[in-house]
Amino acid sequence: MTKQTILVINCGSSSLKFALIDVATKEESLSGLAQRLGSEQASITIKYKGDKQTMALTAPYLHQAALAKLIEFLKTNSLTDSIVAIGHRVVHGGEEYHLPTLITEKVMAQLKKLSNLAPLHNPANIIGIEAALAAFEHLPQVAVFDTAFHQSIPNKAFLYAVPQKLYKEHSIRKYGFHGTSHYFVSREAANMLGKDINELSLVTVHLGNGCSLAAIEAGQSVDTSMGFTPLAGVTMGTRSGDIDPGVIFHLTSHCGYTVEQVDAMLNKESGLLGLSGISNDCRTLEEQALEENNPQAKLALDVFSFTIAKSLAAMTVSLSKLDGIVFTGGIGENSDYVRDQVIKQLSVLGLSLNEALNAQAIRGKSLNIATEQSPAILVVPTNEEWVIANQTHQLIQE
Ligand code: ADP
Repeated sequence: MTKQTILVINCGSSSLKFALIDVATKEESLSGLAQRLGSEQASITIKYKGDKQTMALTAPYLHQAALAKLIEFLKTNSLTDSIVAIGHRVVHGGEEYHLPTLITEKVMAQLKKLSNLAPLHNPANIIGIEAALAAFEHLPQVAVFDTAFHQSIPNKAFLYAVPQKLYKEHSIRKYGFHGTSHYFVSREAANMLGKDINELSLVTVHLGNGCSLAAIEAGQSVDTSMGFTPLAGVTMGTRSGDIDPGVIFHLTSHCGYTVEQVDAMLNKESGLLGLSGISNDCRTLEEQALEENNPQAKLALDVFSFTIAKSLAAMTVSLSKLDGIVFTGGIGENSDYVRDQVIKQLSVLGLSLNEALNAQAIRGKSLNIATEQSPAILVVPTNEEWVIANQTHQLIQE
């Protein structure tokens, strides 16, 4: 059979991540990132065959320019003929989309409507889709939604205790995000444990720049920590996670802040960055806390680990038992310090980790780091690009 690849596109407001994935081997033959789109510093970096090339983009420095450079590169290296479809990461699918969806004009119109639920994310995803539709008009394109996997959450867990009309008229409810990652690592966990996913009760803990947890019962998401937006839940790199909503009214009514300022502060200046005053980067904070004895860095990591432990305990309420927890994302996959801090606070759930194994679980290793008495504690590298490629491929074959 001739080689078949899927081009995966993940478009942000000023960035465009991409990967070319071989559906038979799961191999990523090419990957890269366009950054600072919309500014004169816009550039694209393409990794291919162990080589990394960064090229400046031309005016108007937008997503279209990035895709044009990518296509030129794909053509030069004879990679276009193998592409059978394009898979797009779309952040918000609302209640309409719980499955990967072939993009048609009707779907585009609905996605545009959904933008009001995720104004920070969906408009950028739509720009990426439109640019890709123009550039690859002959190829099927598929939307894979971050919210889709969480559509199985029951209403007692997704409803907020606010007047019902907010849900009915304005779709205000918990949606949850990082769905492709929670889906992927829960399946990988079942493989590692040699069990059928339908028999397992797991908590998956995705810790990257954004962080979320999910309760997974018999393969289905039954609760998650993010909410109507990705701002809710545990402390993150620059997002606050849960705060008393009364703080927002106080700041806007009594402290002279505008709604826009508070929005920017909670999304971009809070979390690890806000608490430490140093960085949003967990690795930098660990260096500061452990090597320089910096108390602010230590405090930021303490709050971070405490909110994760608390959320993990809260997730177990939706499970019939606890077979294991799964750490993933840049922090979950690499930080033995954060894993240790989180698990230390969860002895009440019988969780304990083996320090030697914990120290070994870094840089893409899959490992069970639990002691023998504990429910499994797995470290599993996530692969959202692969999920998008695989689901896109499955859909176009139907
Ligand atoms: P994104 O959500 O943008 O995909 P990642 O999943 O790559 O982000 O996670 C980025 C986070 O992972 C950063 O806070 C980074 O410091 C952290 N990280 C990566 N490697 C390590 C490490 N060895 N130790 C601690 N934190 C790490």
